[in-house]
Amino acid sequence: MLSESELANKVKAYDKNADEAALRRAYAFANKMHHEQKRESGEPYVIHPINVAETLINYHMDATSIIAALLHDTVEDTSTSLEEIRNIFGEDVAKLVDGVTKLTRIEWNSDKSKQAGNFQKLVLAMSQDIRVLLIKLADRLHNMRTLTSVHSESKRIRIAKETMEIYVQLAERLGLHALKTEMEDIAFRILHPDVYESLAVRLNFLRENAGNLIPDIVADLKKDMSINGIKAEISGREKTPYSIWRKMQKQNITFEELCDIVAFRIIVDTVGDCYQALGVINTKYPMIPGRYKDYISTPKPNGYSSIHTSVIGPKNRRIEIQIRTKEMHEVAENGVAAHWSYKQGSYEGSSQFKWLRGLLDIMEQASSPEEFLDNTKMEMYADQVFCFTPKGDLVSLPTSATAIDFAYAVHSSVGNRCIGVKINGRIKPLRTMLANGDQVEIITSKVQNPSPEWERFAVTGKARAAIRRFIRNQKREQYLELGRQIMQKDLKASGKEYNEKDYVPLLGKYKVDTVEDLIAGVGEGIYTAHEIIIQIHPDMKSTMSTIMESFKKRTTRIKKKPAGRLQIKGLIPNMAIYFAGCCHPVPGDRIVGIITTGKGVTIHNLACKTLEKFAAEPERWIDIDWNDDLTQAETENEEKTYTARLNIVLLDKPGALGLLSTTVAKAKSNICNVNTVNRSFGFLELLVDLEVKNAEHLENVIDMLRTCPVINSVKRI
Ligand code: MN
Repeated sequence: MLSESELANKVKAYDKNADEAALRRAYAFANKMHHEQKRESGEPYVIHPINVAETLINYHMDATSIIAALLHDTVEDTSTSLEEIRNIFGEDVAKLVDGVTKLTRIEWNSDKSKQAGNFQKLVLAMSQDIRVLLIKLADRLHNMRTLTSVHSESKRIRIAKETMEIYVQLAERLGLHALKTEMEDIAFRILHPDVYESLAVRLNFLRENAGNLIPDIVADLKKDMSINGIKAEISGREKTPYSIWRKMQKQNITFEELCDIVAFRIIVDTVGDCYQALGVINTKYPMIPGRYKDYISTPKPNGYSSIHTSVIGPKNRRIEIQIRTKEMHEVAENGVAAHWSYKQGSYEGSSQFKWLRGLLDIMEQASSPEEFLDNTKMEMYADQVFCFTPKGDLVSLPTSATAIDFAYAVHSSVGNRCIGVKINGRIKPLRTMLANGDQVEIITSKVQNPSPEWERFAVTGKARAAIRRFIRNQKREQYLELGRQIMQKDLKASGKEYNEKDYVPLLGKYKVDTVEDLIAGVGEGIYTAHEIIIQIHPDMKSTMSTIMESFKKRTTRIKKKPAGRLQIKGLIPNMAIYFAGCCHPVPGDRIVGIITTGKGVTIHNLACKTLEKFAAEPERWIDIDWNDDLTQAETENEEKTYTARLNIVLLDKPGALGLLSTTVAKAKSNICNVNTVNRSFGFLELLVDLEVKNAEHLENVIDMLRTCPVINSVKRI
């Protein structure tokens, strides 16, 4: 434990302007106030705040932070008031102590791990000043270091869990790698004692069996460097049990297969030396492919830079090597605290919003090296984006979340009624991805009308589930409506009335609760109207010829400009429709819909041979047509294309295919698929799938192809 003068001297060593008297006063004050108290280990309580201060001294934090660290538990755990702190130590210290005290007071139920994200958010929002967070982390570090002396096992587990879920994550985001790793390893040991134990035993065994090769390898690498005139500090270490365990889980491999359990670090003076050192390593040792990463030429967005490589190193051991300069090392180990010591005070913000924004930026940029970079996906809350409601409430979402996720995060009714969004005061598309610090205002209407499209760009489970639920309910309505229409049409053809209560006797047989369920089933295509009706009206019959007659009587071969838009008359809006793969109908063709079980409506060309298969089920046929009511503008804006299939026979000679594709392109169409059917006697027979806007367009393409000298024949399939 540091004495009063040792502590003051240490701070003075890196900060000449530090107020030594105030530091000494704080030390003495903490000593006095905690005088009677003991830690659970039986040691005097004051050891704790002094240790916390020491951690921060190692980060070269400013004297204000050190003083606050010494006093951090006085308000919560002793008779001291915040007022007193303010009077004796001033406003700045009081603010920091108050921040830490508030954080300590938040109760955290670790059994509800769902709340971990919220809690983190809360910690952030309450910290106000990044120094509060750093004091809190140093506080937690010391509590972890002394965790074994906590008597209650359940309390130990709770603290370890909380540390893993909250503080490790926060430390990681701030790039406090050393602190993070230490907390993580202690927590791992408490939470998974068996795994920890077996890893430790295994590591020991290896160490004893193979001898501890680390010093030898370090010596070899040192020699390699000095022969080549590179000044370098080299250190080697075993990875921690926790990081090995994580790697094993991530890569789903066993301990035996995990060879690179030792990692070495070469720290040199200049960037040039880094590459020179790399050159030496590469010349001497075989490199393991796929492991080389140059974060110096391309630093991580967070500023982390280093060279990573893996080689079969000295003693034939597979090792991992990181090469970096001292400055890079400082940032890699101490993250935001490293920045701190370089530009002191730069993170003090006036308003909470400004501070939080700043912290979010830091969190974006801050990093810890190694595992974190490679394992971000394993992290529970590593990928979040924080946004604000217009009232300033914080909403945290996964990164890549869009405005629609935000809407559903606020409330599902807001999501369902959402029609637009303003981000930072500007109208933006709902699919817009949110960025940290965005202020998001959802514009709603009175009616609920989520679009199935939304599901494509919603990323949160909550939004996706809500959209799906809404669509499902809406679909049922559609199926019910369609089912009724089908039933009515079928009955009407035989001069019969549609009466829902007629079908009550069938409910038991079909195991449904209501006639509506039954009729919706007809709409969905689970049952046919025919099978339902003939059980109530056994006299009803239909034939293929009568249906075909009625369809063919339709006068319209669409002559007007057909709409390219996917709009078909005779369907319920938003009903799922599919274009048949057999006949590739395009707008302008005469078409018919066939209800397909559980799928929706399949659209066939009326000339399609496949339709004969449905001859016995007239109730599945629905009368539809292309919608030519759309305005000119709608038609022209529409870029939707349809696939049509042509059988083309052309001369099998060089350049023929080229000419075919140029002609198609000239006709403003596009070939999306080609299959060779036959190649003989100097001819090539192809099945060509084309993208066209409508029947007229297709006609045009066919005409142009026919004028092409190498083409023998063109037929639509
Ligand atoms: Mn404490």
